[in-house]
Amino acid sequence: MIGRMMRNSVKNSKKQSTLAKTARTDGSLTLVATPIGNASDISLRALDTLRTADLIFCEDTRQTQKLLMMHGITGKKLVAAHAHNESHAASKILAEVEAGKQVAYASDAGLPLISDPGETIMQVMIDAGASVTSIPGANAALTALQLSGLPPLPFYFAGFLPPKTKARCDALKLLEKIPATLIFYEAPHRLSETLGDMLHVLGDRKAATARELTKMHEEIQRGTLATLFADAEKQERIRGECVILVAPYSPETEQHDDADETDALLLQALKTLSPRDAAFDVAAKTGQQRRALYQRILELKK
Ligand code: SAM
Repeated sequence: MIGRMMRNSVKNSKKQSTLAKTARTDGSLTLVATPIGNASDISLRALDTLRTADLIFCEDTRQTQKLLMMHGITGKKLVAAHAHNESHAASKILAEVEAGKQVAYASDAGLPLISDPGETIMQVMIDAGASVTSIPGANAALTALQLSGLPPLPFYFAGFLPPKTKARCDALKLLEKIPATLIFYEAPHRLSETLGDMLHVLGDRKAATARELTKMHEEIQRGTLATLFADAEKQERIRGECVILVAPYSPETEQHDDADETDALLLQALKTLSPRDAAFDVAAKTGQQRRALYQRILELKK
């Protein structure tokens, strides 16, 4: 019995080593995670893969070239594969892999596919039964979640919201009752309007913003949607890439909806009106007392 097991195990290990050889000589695609700010945040395996790849497809050849140079990797052939040519690039990648090449794919920052190109490439590879693997690494959503102070699990990663207010509010409405920490990516110039829409649709929940992660001016702000919105409104120009995180839905947060709605209206009015006029404006819209609204404005400004 033991003899048979040993014979089987020798047979299996022979089979495995043949498989390992096949895996080494067959072509394959490797998705490579790159830094989200700090150039040192790249794994040894990622660098090794980039160094030894026959061909590197990337979102922006200049960006990837810069990264390679920083790590002393020279003489590599880079080919662009971005949102506008992804289907075409996917066919090229598949042809290279089928010809036995080791191909790497990197987006500009973080994980390919995660609010970045790569989905079509992956689909084409999977449909063709080609070999694909991924080297993990930096990711803005999860780094922000770790630092946010909000419940880490469950979380719901929504990526970028639509850029126009109506579509953004419609998208937020669909997420309103998810009992999970919500994670969004946002461009700095849209931060304040997006926080305003979140306050309006989701109510005044605990929230956090994470800017410039892994960089010298990394900044995490923790508060509520109202305080973060008021803060963003005060700033003339917000710099740096940003992640917004919002606490999970709970039935208790819903009870504050009326107050949140009023705060959202006041903050919206304050964008163009003085505190006095904003109180008048919202009093006219909601039938609430102007004096109480003015007091609330003073609190929000604090
Ligand atoms: N693939 C990337 C990843 O795995 O995180 C995301 C790329 S997506 C095009 C870029 C967005 O990610 C930015 O607009 C911002 O919301 C977020 N982001 C990327 N780097 C960041 C950083 N260093 N700090 C904060 N947010 C960042």
